[in-house]
Amino acid sequence: MTGMKRVDPRRAYRMGSTGLRRIVLGESGAGDAALRFTSNQTDSRAKPLRSSVAATRWHIAVAHAYRGRLDDHAREAIAAAAILAGPEVGVLAVILGAYHENAAELGADKIAIIEDLEASRYEPQREEAVVQSFVEHYAPEHIFMPDNLSGDGDLGRRLIAKQKGVAATHVAEIDAAHVATAWSSGPVLASTPLPGIVLIDAGIVDTNLPFVGAGETVTPPQLPEIAERFRDLGLEPSAAEAIALEEADFIVSAGNGVSEVATLEQLARSLGAAVGASRVAVDEGKFPRSKQIGASGKTVSATTYFAIGISGAVQHLQGIKACRHVIAINRDAGAPIVKRADLTIIADAEELMQALITRVAQAREQTDATEANR
Ligand SMILES: Cc1cc2nc3c(=O)[nH]c(=O)nc-3n(C[C@H](O)[C@H](O)[C@H](O)COP(=O)(O)OP(=O)(O)OC[C@H]3O[C@@H](n4cnc5c(N)ncnc54)[C@H](O)[C@@H]3O)c2cc1C
Repeated sequence: MTGMKRVDPRRAYRMGSTGLRRIVLGESGAGDAALRFTSNQTDSRAKPLRSSVAATRWHIAVAHAYRGRLDDHAREAIAAAAILAGPEVGVLAVILGAYHENAAELGADKIAIIEDLEASRYEPQREEAVVQSFVEHYAPEHIFMPDNLSGDGDLGRRLIAKQKGVAATHVAEIDAAHVATAWSSGPVLASTPLPGIVLIDAGIVDTNLPFVGAGETVTPPQLPEIAERFRDLGLEPSAAEAIALEEADFIVSAGNGVSEVATLEQLARSLGAAVGASRVAVDEGKFPRSKQIGASGKTVSATTYFAIGISGAVQHLQGIKACRHVIAINRDAGAPIVKRADLTIIADAEELMQALITRVAQAREQTDATEANR
């Protein structure tokens, strides 16, 4: 016994873009940042079509879009449908809610966008009926969905109950032959052959595909007139400061390079963002410990993360691995955060924050004036 820790050969792995297994060291869940970063940089125009053969059978992927885009988890469900499709199997992506990206880069051959079914409204029976109509028309071999708490997991379970077929939820690993799901509090993987409906966990499929789908738009079916048994009372917006950092979609975060906390808080308020901080900023007493992001603080997964005057030490980067867009403001072009950021502004933090606050106020006034003139 050397005491050296070995990789557990039975641990969950991620399905690569060719359908081969890839164990990702050091993390589970949302996937490694480098991969996520490069996947944002892919150029789908340069890639070949996945298949040029007419489809005789189908995979369907279903997911809600938010504010016109699919999150990484939803993207994985479509990519899984494409990776596991043979040449004669077509991939239909059914996207609920307005969608402004191109699902062809995720391997979708046909894309049906049901704009009217927004994730912010709860219309379970209409959603179910729409998906059901695609299922009846295409008779898919497999349906892939993200197993999340924001609508798809619920819809998926209702479809499972309707279809009465074999299904798997919380799928932690997947390939053409099987799916596996964690049980016994995680360490044991139970597997079964790839079932009809597959609800996947996040972080198990590489979405950086070497091919594209045909991306043909499909006219959605007429939405059925269904008197919902549920009454949707709508969403109530919460104040950004009341949202837990782990749930915040937009975070403005301060490091040692921020001298005026009040300016940062004003910027966060004007952008409707939550406030985060580096450990140094917290240690200096500028922010409470609950705001600390990083290895010994919170792990966040915001769509947009503003890192202001933060160097990007490895412990801080650990906490923002799952953030989709990182924008850095730093005086030093050589700071490590620059490598992680999608956009870096080399400037003085205080000056740039003041300029941003002014521009946001101007943009808001302009919008208000346009609305008033309508
Ligand atoms: C066990 C352990 C756990 C840790 N856990 C965490 C953690 O959870 N979270 C965390 O954040 N850190 C953590 N750290 C600390 C981490 O190593 C770094 O020290 C810390 O992240 C640095 O914070 P910073 O980037 O705000 O400060 P600094 O390293 O001082 O960087 C400040 C940055 O601001 C820039 N800057 C300065 N002035 C300006 C200006 N006027 N305008 C624009 N830019 C400016 C500088 O160029 C620099 O890049 C941990 C360390 C250890 C050892």
